[in-house]
Amino acid sequence: MTTSRYGADRDTVAQFLAERGEPRYRVDQVVDGLYAQRQPIDNLTTLPLALRESIAGAFPLALEPIREQRDRRDTTVKWLWRTADGAQVETVLMRSPKRATVCVSSQAGCAMGCTFCATGQAGFERHLRADEIIEQVLRAQHASSQRVSNVVYMGMGEPLANVDAVFASCHRLHDELGLSARHLTISTVGVVPGMRRLAELDLPVTLAVSLHAPDDALRAQLVPLNDRYPIAEVLDAAREYAQLKGRRVTFEYACISEVNDHPAQADALAGRLTGFRGGAHVNLIPLNPTGGFAGRASDRERLEHFAARLQSAGVQATIRRNRGTDIDAACGQLRAREQTGRAQARESARMVP
Ligand code: SAH
Ligand code: SF4
Repeated sequence: MTTSRYGADRDTVAQFLAERGEPRYRVDQVVDGLYAQRQPIDNLTTLPLALRESIAGAFPLALEPIREQRDRRDTTVKWLWRTADGAQVETVLMRSPKRATVCVSSQAGCAMGCTFCATGQAGFERHLRADEIIEQVLRAQHASSQRVSNVVYMGMGEPLANVDAVFASCHRLHDELGLSARHLTISTVGVVPGMRRLAELDLPVTLAVSLHAPDDALRAQLVPLNDRYPIAEVLDAAREYAQLKGRRVTFEYACISEVNDHPAQADALAGRLTGFRGGAHVNLIPLNPTGGFAGRASDRERLEHFAARLQSAGVQATIRRNRGTDIDAACGQLRAREQTGRAQARESARMVP
């Protein structure tokens, strides 16, 4: 099997170069260039052209772009990639004056089946490998003049259902690309054993927990995993994480009009988010509409009211601007649209006599 560009470790690169009779200092030039400097291989002009070409040929990229979309102001770029075995995954780059954040996928698809999520609606394909996760960050970096400062595991998939590859990728982003641990955020739907393993990881990454409801009955309708790990258990694991790492935990809450955005639900939520070291922070995300879910996004007034109720109860709350909406930047949506488009194309092809 071929080794992908970012799957080749230092020893593999060293052996490849030694076989070609290259001097030993080339190993550092290649490894530092690809990771610390985050350059595409073509830009490593300290290497002779023929060597760059032979490295590129021997260690191919793992992701081939199928689609790339930019918003009008060029602050958000989204890619749909195809892996060597034909799986499709998405990556988003979001830039602001203060930071450049890459949102990575950790799996092709997702087995968790959250009802409002395009990825959940499509089902699970496979885990991504660490090198495929790293490549998403580096490919986004190659397209950005601004240095990528943050990585969030909020693309397709449940990162804590793929802990080995996800933790390995966190280590590599920290050790090789130089990202700070607190600027890596793992978002989970509440896989409690995975949260406990994350607490044992020797990197204090930021934990985000997708909650979406203040009570088990409603949450189970949105997040089937709630039957296995109900809210109380998820919150206990999150409290332990906050305590152990001294890091504030963030909660995500997709606001669905008239479903989970009543003022009484804000009060109930605030009542549950007590006892967190560093306080609890809630990110309110207006629902992105998806084909398989009937709910609508909460309007601005309801969002602001919900946020105010949380704040008056001592819980920090921010309303997340849904900046990707004009390019379908929510989780799994670009792929969903691509596949619908292809199905429609097949359909119309069939109609040609
Ligand atoms: N599986 C992880 C991380 C990927 S999803 C998790 O669920 O946390 C990243 C975030 O996007 C989660 O908070 C998820 O609930 C949210 N999300 C998914 N579909 C959405 C939609 N249609 N509208 C708004 N938020 C959505
Ligand atoms: Fe999976 Fe997260 Fe989507 Fe749920 S919201 S289906 S856990 S990607």
